[in-house]
Amino acid sequence: MTTDKKSFETFTFSGMALDPIHVGTGGTRLGRVDNTIVRDPVTKIPKIPGSSLAGVMRAYTAMAKGKYPTCAGLGQPEHGGAGGHCGQADCPVCTVFGFARGKDSDGGFAGLAGFSDMHVLLFPVASQLGPQWVTSPGAMRFAGADISITNENAVYQGAGSDHLLNLGWLMLSVENHDKWDSLKTKLNELKLPDYMKSKVLLVSDKLFAHIVNSNLEVRTSVAIDPATGSAVEGALFTYEALPRGTVLVWEMTCRNPKHFKINGNDVTAVKSPEKVRDVVADAHPYLENFGIGGMGSRGMGRLHVLQSKEPADEDKSGKEVS
Ligand SMILES: [Zn+2]
Repeated sequence: MTTDKKSFETFTFSGMALDPIHVGTGGTRLGRVDNTIVRDPVTKIPKIPGSSLAGVMRAYTAMAKGKYPTCAGLGQPEHGGAGGHCGQADCPVCTVFGFARGKDSDGGFAGLAGFSDMHVLLFPVASQLGPQWVTSPGAMRFAGADISITNENAVYQGAGSDHLLNLGWLMLSVENHDKWDSLKTKLNELKLPDYMKSKVLLVSDKLFAHIVNSNLEVRTSVAIDPATGSAVEGALFTYEALPRGTVLVWEMTCRNPKHFKINGNDVTAVKSPEKVRDVVADAHPYLENFGIGGMGSRGMGRLHVLQSKEPADEDKSGKEVS
């Protein structure tokens, strides 16, 4: 099938946390933690909602394309009608991320790019062998890999050893996995650094949720009164975050621009699903410098996208889904 006919393509990305990352639920108090992070309702593992990702990527793409702040944000015009999304067929931000109903246009546009939630793929944990990165069959599934395990209470690795391994407070028996090569191939595709790939351990989904949730960063901080610059009386609070070194995985669905018109015009800003991906990839360096989620002013949230940007090559497609 040619690029012209495909209605969309899906690309997988991975990124490593350079700082702890906190994407809050908005002040829920749960046990000893005041500011909890968003969790998947089924797996109970923290995740970053796709809506949060889309919001920061829109802002950073607008910066990269010289369209900030007009085409960033929610696009509501100011009182009096000035400002808001430009909504033009040649705007890389408004075509890729969509735009709100403009003051003189017929209506809004949902945008060519869609973002999945960001899931934890590999989680760093201390062991007697130094730092290790833990994953599970469910976590690997988010990256498109199918790998299963038989012993729910063991920890699997590639090369032969039959000792016990401590992961934090857990002491687990080590088993070899006979399909380790397929896991390694997927980690290669995701461009994980070599030092990490040699320290990957596979555990059951249940054990993975335990390990992640008992090794989150919990920080205590003091709220600062912006008026006085001093601590607010009684404002000590705690918040949790994914630790530095966590690897996240997410998917971007890129619709084919050739199938859309904007106010009756062909989309000229991008010509293919690959070009939609490339527009967003221009924002990746901003993610590494300015980060995602809350507490940015406390040195949190920077994420290094592991795939370097490749020039748009129409032959080099993502996985075809329609
Ligand atoms: Zn625009």
